[in-house]
Amino acid sequence: MTKRRRIGDRELLPETLMMSYGYDPVLSEGAVKSPIFQTSTFAFRTAEEGKAHFALAYGLREPVGDEQLGLIYSRLNNPDLEILEDRLTLFDGAERAAVFASGMAAITTSLLAYLRPGDVVVHSGPIYGGSDHFVRKILPKMGIEPVGFPAGVPFGSVEAGLRREIAGRPVGAVLIETPANPTNGLVDIAAVARFTRGCDTADRRVPLMVDNTFLGPIYQQPIAHGADIVLYSATKYIGGHSDVIAGAALGSREMMAPISAMRTFLGTMASPWSGWLLMRSLETLKLRMEAATHHAGTVARFLTGHPRVRQVQWLGLLPATDPMAEVYARQCTGPGAMISFEVHGGEAEAFRFLNALTLIKIAVSLGGTESLAQHPQTMTHADVDPSHQAQLGITPALVRLSVGLEHPDDLAADLAHALDAI
Ligand SMILES: *Cc1c(COP(=O)(O)O)cnc(C)c1O
Repeated sequence: MTKRRRIGDRELLPETLMMSYGYDPVLSEGAVKSPIFQTSTFAFRTAEEGKAHFALAYGLREPVGDEQLGLIYSRLNNPDLEILEDRLTLFDGAERAAVFASGMAAITTSLLAYLRPGDVVVHSGPIYGGSDHFVRKILPKMGIEPVGFPAGVPFGSVEAGLRREIAGRPVGAVLIETPANPTNGLVDIAAVARFTRGCDTADRRVPLMVDNTFLGPIYQQPIAHGADIVLYSATKYIGGHSDVIAGAALGSREMMAPISAMRTFLGTMASPWSGWLLMRSLETLKLRMEAATHHAGTVARFLTGHPRVRQVQWLGLLPATDPMAEVYARQCTGPGAMISFEVHGGEAEAFRFLNALTLIKIAVSLGGTESLAQHPQTMTHADVDPSHQAQLGITPALVRLSVGLEHPDDLAADLAHALDAI
């Protein structure tokens, strides 16, 4: 019983199951930890077994009872990836997960699994710079037109305009990112889910895909709010140590089937070694996110009171009067550890501040044990059109900070010193 989730009446919590779920030591010489199955292919006991596995993998027959797909080839399946995928489903309440070579691989493979020429892809903005490039620059070459709407404002206030822009064309997928990178703007998942259901047709269920990288899976579970697919850059909190690039997509068995199939044919899966590293990371995910979030509170409060800083965006300080406060209360269970703020001045002041940091490194990425700072306008979001940047709040003075596990008073000291240097 490696997939046991209860003891008596007690339903075990996901953090408990991260150390055991889906792995049977008996199959691996009693090893407490899963070995790294660094193999490209798996030997069939007989030719008949190989035939049976392929028939299931390619949908030529239905599974018998709760039959799992046998191991075939590491582009299709691998024990490290399968155990990891089983564990990832638990926090989000998903039926299936697929892990990818990167967050971008998860996002692009999922979109390509559903979109067709002539479709509109609806998306919130801002979104991660790579997602923005794919949706706005690459998908149009395939005859798929992006239609965006802003994060950070109630969906009801933009829905009518969005419908006008779609103008009756088929919607192939809806992609939102909440909180948005880099501004922490929220999108109301339940409201967008209702809109998405209205885009369904008799022969197509339109997937609502939610990039949950910033708060998930600990502080936000989009499936409970009506999302169909949850996407992750597992490079960030899930990996958590800035030493692996990976991604994930999660959802129901039915909605994940085209995505897993597309992964098989694009070959965008994670490697066994990445899978093994992520399993190790999952064991501390909850502890890391809780500690980083606590530290972010100290840092955000320090920044808020500083005379050279303005516009501190941290969800833990969202005023009750903000129109998105209600969405935050309904959809998120914690504020996470991403902060954005502006220094007084522009790019020159922001750069002087960044260059004066000593403990906090100037680097893109986030969600690692170490704190990182970057300048979205010229780094992660440099590729976003300038007029669009301004609309989205990506200004020359904006700095994005990912708070890690250093002592928060040490971080505040580093920030104070660097702010003095502006
Ligand atoms: C980093 C990031 C991505 C891309 O993930 P990679 O693992 O770098 O490919 C996608 N979405 C968000 C919100 C991110 O922060």
